[in-house]
Amino acid sequence: MRQILLSLIMLFLAASAQAGEVDRLYVIDCGWAHAVDQSRWSPGVNVGVPIDFSDNCYLIHHSSGGYLLWDTGITDSLAALPEGRAVPALGQTWYRSQTLIAALAALGVNSGNVRYVALSHVHPDHAGNVDEFPDATLIIQKAEADFLATQSQKPFAPGHKMQPIEGDKELLGDDSLVILSTPGHTPGHQSLLVHLAKTGYVILSGDAVHLQSNWDNRRVPDFNYDKAQSLASMEKIARVLDEKHAQLWINHDKPSSDARRYAPEFYE
Ligand SMILES: [Zn+2]
Repeated sequence: MRQILLSLIMLFLAASAQAGEVDRLYVIDCGWAHAVDQSRWSPGVNVGVPIDFSDNCYLIHHSSGGYLLWDTGITDSLAALPEGRAVPALGQTWYRSQTLIAALAALGVNSGNVRYVALSHVHPDHAGNVDEFPDATLIIQKAEADFLATQSQKPFAPGHKMQPIEGDKELLGDDSLVILSTPGHTPGHQSLLVHLAKTGYVILSGDAVHLQSNWDNRRVPDFNYDKAQSLASMEKIARVLDEKHAQLWINHDKPSSDARRYAPEFYE
């Protein structure tokens, strides 16, 4: 009898060790953009229709792992430009209402408290403030680091402490944070599967998909690096959503972002 009880306890402990959770997930406003023509992101659909994009950073706290920041948004320097900055190639204008550093300070967090900065990819609206976190370990796919090496514009100083990874990767040893390789938008694009005690599983999908309607219709912008990879990554995300009964949080989809609780509120 005692043997059976012991086995049951061991089984329970093993099960709970595999189902680790992070304590808190904050959604931080990391800028927004107005674009004159949505069809740049949805080829042939909503031609000439203007659209606004949200752009979020996500601060995650783990009881033993500390703080991880997922994406850093558009450069903080835009907070000093109320008229925004135009990006003519995309027909967009970008804005920031407050700096990321100020948003973190309002939560009692400074740059040195952030142990990891993980980026979905290295485009400027996601990698804008990496240099504000010189002590953090940068987590990106090796394929993304290789892609960055070929680019003339560098979003952050070369030589930043980095942990390049290849494919899917469990980060903290308890399955609370799992990087999912989701290439296509860029060569080494990645997403993050987050496990929270009350909220359950959430996938932060970077730019694997830009808009809810693009997700529903599996639309891929023409400017993505690889269309077939983009579609395969969406299918992979759909499988994980199904397996984990997870929510998909589409970073740039403003109506979905508007429905989220922003910092200082948080998800647990
Ligand atoms: Zn983006």
